[in-house]
Amino acid sequence: MKLVTAFVVLLFSLLPDSSTAEDFDFFYLVQQWPGSFCDTRQGCCFPDGAGKPEAAFGIHGLWPNYAKCRGRHHREGGGLARAVLGADDAFLAAVGRRGKCWPEYCGGGGDGDGGHQLSPWDVRDLVASLGRSWPTLSCKNRRSFEFWSYEWKKHGTCSNLDPHDYFARALQLRERHDLAAVLADAGIVPSDTDTYPVDRVRDAIAQGTGFVANLECNRDADGEAQLFQVYQCVDREAKDLIDCPLPMPTKCTDRVKLPVF
Ligand code: 5GP
Repeated sequence: MKLVTAFVVLLFSLLPDSSTAEDFDFFYLVQQWPGSFCDTRQGCCFPDGAGKPEAAFGIHGLWPNYAKCRGRHHREGGGLARAVLGADDAFLAAVGRRGKCWPEYCGGGGDGDGGHQLSPWDVRDLVASLGRSWPTLSCKNRRSFEFWSYEWKKHGTCSNLDPHDYFARALQLRERHDLAAVLADAGIVPSDTDTYPVDRVRDAIAQGTGFVANLECNRDADGEAQLFQVYQCVDREAKDLIDCPLPMPTKCTDRVKLPVF
């Protein structure tokens, strides 16, 4: 009997504890330039019903992040349980050799976790804004709601916010600065021929928003480097921008393009 009790206690200690606040350090608000998503070899599609989004940076996600990668068994409770109990590939990739650099799937990774599924009801008053500011460009699934659900499940469940606040705050943060306008103020405008020094792009964002952001580049179908995503750093309440505490490894070369969309 004692053995059974000990086993049950051990099992419960390994299960994710949804009442425990995630202890991440900051958020990344990640916005993608649609021109740089679409002109790659894989191409892009426009969301069902909504058509071509406007030529503006669109939200990719609001991601809780650690300031320093943590060892695989650093966290007790949820983190350890996920490492031990059937972690999925993405989670294992996040754990990687460097340790775990961000929390993810805090409500569990499986499809059966109904309690952590995003419901259209949760964001009913935000759907129009989300459609404009957070459109999917994927050809695999052209329903933006599926993109939001995926982001909620993978990142939002670790945010210590409820679904409505998670999406509302991401929208409010994006509203503060129109990144395309910030770049245009510095003379960085979409072009399929011009290239810009990446430092000028970085400085323009720091000057225009007041905070240093990280940049991610990808390559167009001809292999040329272009600005793909801007990672702005945000406090733990998802209310205010902060300077990014961490530089990111980057594929940005000295000069980058901002392709027309
Ligand atoms: P994450 O980078 O948040 O871990 O994963 C993004 C996932 O969302 C990928 O599976 C990707 O296929 C899907 N996705 C759907 N729409 C988009 C989009 O517009 N941009 C990006 N980057 N990913 C998208």
